[in-house]
Amino acid sequence: MSLRFRVLGSGSGGNATLVEGGGARVLLDAGLGPRQLAERLVSAGVDPASLDAIFVSHEHGDHARGAAAFSAKWGVPLALSRGTFRAAGFAAAKLPSCDDLAPGETRTIRRLTVQAVAVPHDAASPLAFVVCAGAVSLGHATDLGHLSRGLVAALRGCDAVLVESNYDPALLRDGPYPWSLKQRILGPLGHLSNGDVGRLLERGLGEACRRVVLAHLSKKNNHPELALQAAEESLGRASRRNVEVTLAAPEGTGWIAVRASRADAGRHEGQLRLF
Ligand SMILES: [Zn+2]
Ligand SMILES: [Zn+2]
Repeated sequence: MSLRFRVLGSGSGGNATLVEGGGARVLLDAGLGPRQLAERLVSAGVDPASLDAIFVSHEHGDHARGAAAFSAKWGVPLALSRGTFRAAGFAAAKLPSCDDLAPGETRTIRRLTVQAVAVPHDAASPLAFVVCAGAVSLGHATDLGHLSRGLVAALRGCDAVLVESNYDPALLRDGPYPWSLKQRILGPLGHLSNGDVGRLLERGLGEACRRVVLAHLSKKNNHPELALQAAEESLGRASRRNVEVTLAAPEGTGWIAVRASRADAGRHEGQLRLF
């Protein structure tokens, strides 16, 4: 079974990732306006009405801005935590369907599963997601202040990981943000730095992982080359030259295919591999 994904938007301008596999098609976050989201789906060759669900990680506008209006216009159900639902003010919206998704729970749509994982961020009940189609899995974590044990454990089994690489500490320190906002970003409920991601890549990736996407880069407090360099140096220290790193631009990426590693695929299929 195959899995593929495509980032439709990344960063403070709006986050959304389209994932297809197991006969289903879901969106992780809808932080773009409904019209822009629909346009980017059509550019990807996807009919907006064909989505099976939108999973919303948390209520911040860059993740939830378009969720209610898009859901209502195209008849696509939402799945999100109770805290996110309340904090986003979705109770007042006319939504086709809204699934109350608690951290630790999994939803299955045909042969695609989406597991919700709690993450530390200054939001009501924020989530990361692990999406699986058969033996193939994608971990998707944006907006978290530190690498919690539960999240690292969830990402360790993934064949591909999308993770935020939000800021470079020196650029943040010397940058234009007010001190209070700098403290918030640096804090345990803020965002991950390039160095935090480096530690994840060096020590937290499972053997199956072959693809990493760095997302949600700050325009003011990071630079794509710094994020990429930090990630590649960390993978080099861990001798993980089989892991390909991609940067998600603000306007997204092309399609990225996720494949199970050979050893993993054999184990999941329960077959003896002779070659
Ligand atoms: Zn965000
Ligand atoms: Zn956030």
